[in-house]
Amino acid sequence: MRPKLVVGNWKMNGSREFTASLLSGILEGLDGNAAACAVCVPFPYLYQCEQLLAGSAIAWGAQDVSCQPSGAYTGEVCAAMLAEFGCRYVIVGHSERRAYHGESNELVARKAGAVLAAGLTPIVCVGETLAQREAGETAAVVGAQLDAVLELLGKDAVGRFVLSYEPVWAIGSGKTATPAMAQEVHAQLRAQLRACNAEGAEKVQILYGGSMKPENAGDLMAQPDIDGGLIGGAALKAADFLGIIRAAGPRI
Ligand code: PEP
Repeated sequence: MRPKLVVGNWKMNGSREFTASLLSGILEGLDGNAAACAVCVPFPYLYQCEQLLAGSAIAWGAQDVSCQPSGAYTGEVCAAMLAEFGCRYVIVGHSERRAYHGESNELVARKAGAVLAAGLTPIVCVGETLAQREAGETAAVVGAQLDAVLELLGKDAVGRFVLSYEPVWAIGSGKTATPAMAQEVHAQLRAQLRACNAEGAEKVQILYGGSMKPENAGDLMAQPDIDGGLIGGAALKAADFLGIIRAAGPRI
């Protein structure tokens, strides 16, 4: 059995005050044997996370990274900088980055490689739009998104990244994939990982993301290939985030 992982994606929300109050609320409510969890916050709040979360059961990370190791890339942040602030995770290829910043499958794969090279764990997001689902293209779209990562990083990387299936139509919309719909895609992703590296594939945590809430988290995470959640809106309220962590069951 794979350990569950619950990750909050704060997106471009928060302030110093908000960060302090949300993190203290989560820390206060977190059970001693809670499933593994992390918060991925805007870059400016990483130092605050390091100060408030070091030594706690909550890991932290970033929501994006440059594919370059250093140099003349104005406005970019490289993985080594994130490592300096104690990040464990970096989200790459979130659908909002793919949609609003034109990130290609190849660029996402390079970003995942940069994160691994810095000793951190990429959370690679894949997912189809509503139009793609309705056209019967889900398997092909998420398959190509994962393929780009496997082709660039090779079989040794399997087991060193987290994968997150996030149907774009479910993100921030209040519409959640049913557990069966999500499991079908997760099983396909697992099979694709197995074809690349059978042993590594069993270790890969495949999260589900898209309007996960305390009320639906338990049923989703009970599916055999759903190993946790990537949480947007519900990660911004301590009670909701804690409810999802509880639904993930005890730490194993
Ligand atoms: C996300 O953006 O990664 C996400 C899953 O958002 P939400 O939970 O708000 O749908």
